[in-house]
Amino acid sequence: MYVGCHLSSAGGSEAMVQTACSIGANTFAFFTRNPRGSKAKRPNPEDDARAVELLKELRFGKLVAHGSYTMNLCTADPEARRFAAGILREDLARMAALPGNYYNFHPGSHVGQGTQAGIDYIAQALRSALAHGYPVQVLLETMAGKGSEIGGRFEELKAILDAVGSKDLGVCLDTCHVFDAGYDLVNDLDGVLAEFDRVIGLERLRALHLNDSRNPLGSRKDRHACLGAGCLGLDAFQAIVNHPALKDKPMILETPNELPGYQKEIALLRQMES
Ligand code: FE
Ligand code: FE
Ligand code: ZN
Repeated sequence: MYVGCHLSSAGGSEAMVQTACSIGANTFAFFTRNPRGSKAKRPNPEDDARAVELLKELRFGKLVAHGSYTMNLCTADPEARRFAAGILREDLARMAALPGNYYNFHPGSHVGQGTQAGIDYIAQALRSALAHGYPVQVLLETMAGKGSEIGGRFEELKAILDAVGSKDLGVCLDTCHVFDAGYDLVNDLDGVLAEFDRVIGLERLRALHLNDSRNPLGSRKDRHACLGAGCLGLDAFQAIVNHPALKDKPMILETPNELPGYQKEIALLRQMES
């Protein structure tokens, strides 16, 4: 199984691979720029090249880079929208330094313009960024549906995928988010995945974010909890990591932990694997 967590990119790419290794991970996530801002690190091609070698040598699964939370492709102001679309394109260009991995992002919030307008703006930005052909696969994250967030329903993600029309575009399933959005991973994992398959198609599912949720089914809250400390519980994660449709995908922890906590959860997930 490929399991890992979010790591700080402050020390560079090679350091992230080494840190991942030291806590038993064989994939990881990192923010391509300040998660709450838009500033990106200066590129370091030598460091990235060493990381690429090391990832191969250590047989890591695909990495799942994460776009900034502040990047809203469907914000109302046209200038801000253009800025966000530019950030997306720049992030994908930078991922070329670590080719063949994933880039996941939150589709966006339509801030009162309506779901369809939001979907159109997101698709437009994606089409133009993907036209450059950067060697990265882009993933839309399933969202909790809080506020005017797009992506709380599988149908909304499907509408974006259809509007973009690229077979390479995929989905990253966040367990806390889909549960908060009302999909019952605890009592009906098979049913949720059947629904995903019916609406989107399971071949589009490329990665998972493993998070327990502080809030009950359908709460639309998006507050992550450590595994077993929330409303999903450990049995749900045991079923998820062993499910034939999920078990080969990179699984990324975004639980409220520092490295020692992540190390324990990674070990726990590996123990659960049957
Ligand atoms: Fe996310
Ligand atoms: Fe997530
Ligand atoms: Zn979340």
